[in-house]
Amino acid sequence: MNQQAEAKAAFEAKLQEFVGLEIGPPEVADDDVNEAMIRHWCQAMGDTNPIYTEPEVGKSSTHGGIVAPPAMMQAWTMPGIVVAYDLDSLDDKQRELHKFFGDNGYPSVVATDCEQGYDRYVRPGDRLTARTTIESISEEKATALGIGYFVVTRTLYSDQKGEPVGWMTFRVLKFKPNQPAQPAADGEGSGPMSGKPTRMRPPLAHDNAWWWEGVDNDQLLIQKCDDCGTLRHPPRPMCSECQSIQWGSIESTGRGTVHSYTVMHHPPIPGYDYPLAVALIDLEEGTRIVSNVEGISPHDVRIGMKVECSIETTEGDFKLPIFHPVAGE
Ligand SMILES: [Zn+2]
Repeated sequence: MNQQAEAKAAFEAKLQEFVGLEIGPPEVADDDVNEAMIRHWCQAMGDTNPIYTEPEVGKSSTHGGIVAPPAMMQAWTMPGIVVAYDLDSLDDKQRELHKFFGDNGYPSVVATDCEQGYDRYVRPGDRLTARTTIESISEEKATALGIGYFVVTRTLYSDQKGEPVGWMTFRVLKFKPNQPAQPAADGEGSGPMSGKPTRMRPPLAHDNAWWWEGVDNDQLLIQKCDDCGTLRHPPRPMCSECQSIQWGSIESTGRGTVHSYTVMHHPPIPGYDYPLAVALIDLEEGTRIVSNVEGISPHDVRIGMKVECSIETTEGDFKLPIFHPVAGE
């Protein structure tokens, strides 16, 4: 391993030491769940459901009284804006982690997504407690904002009896902002990472992971409705023709024609070589797919050109369907 790779490995090993840690002591809500705060939240959010604000409606409902909007869960234990200040006081592991990122060349942060789940409605008189754990830290990613790491925290909410009421995951990207190429100065860019960034990896989830597994097995798959037989791409849960959620897949021959294309020059995203031909390919089975056309100058790509897919390994272990002009066409 060269020195840079060693520094990166040490940095990433240290990052992983944060995974699984509770960020600090449990946060107990300053107030019981109460009608006034519920009303203010509903007014601020424009939520007019009377189950949250009108005692008579609450009483006659299955809840037997007013309940708090589930999405308000975080508000009960959330500290004020003060949480965003004073990264130097190392009184919790999340701040310590963010400072560690900052000290190693990843000063910027952006929240990317949040999910919540609920065990039960909370109601006036409940007192919530939140416990937050650093759940995962990704491998290094190249994003449109810059290269960095995704950090996920998981917060568990419980009531005054210690019974669970809900959970929340919160994902942020800690990153090194993209900058025009220039010599490193005053420590800028002096973190352990200055190797060539890799291509963005597809976000894998319930609805699309199977398709990428197909690519890993050298197959270009097309989703097919079990009920009406309609093919669809990109993968999604429901058939747009008959609304069936039953589906299977077929394997494409990989042959198609260029329906349309664009040649990208700007803005450059780390991990890609420019100019880059991005094409919409009509597969002969009848669906379309977005991919790159390679093996030809980007300027020679033409609408109607016959192309063929090959599954190619890029950057070590990452497979992608890439299209090439059909020889002799
Ligand atoms: Zn269908």
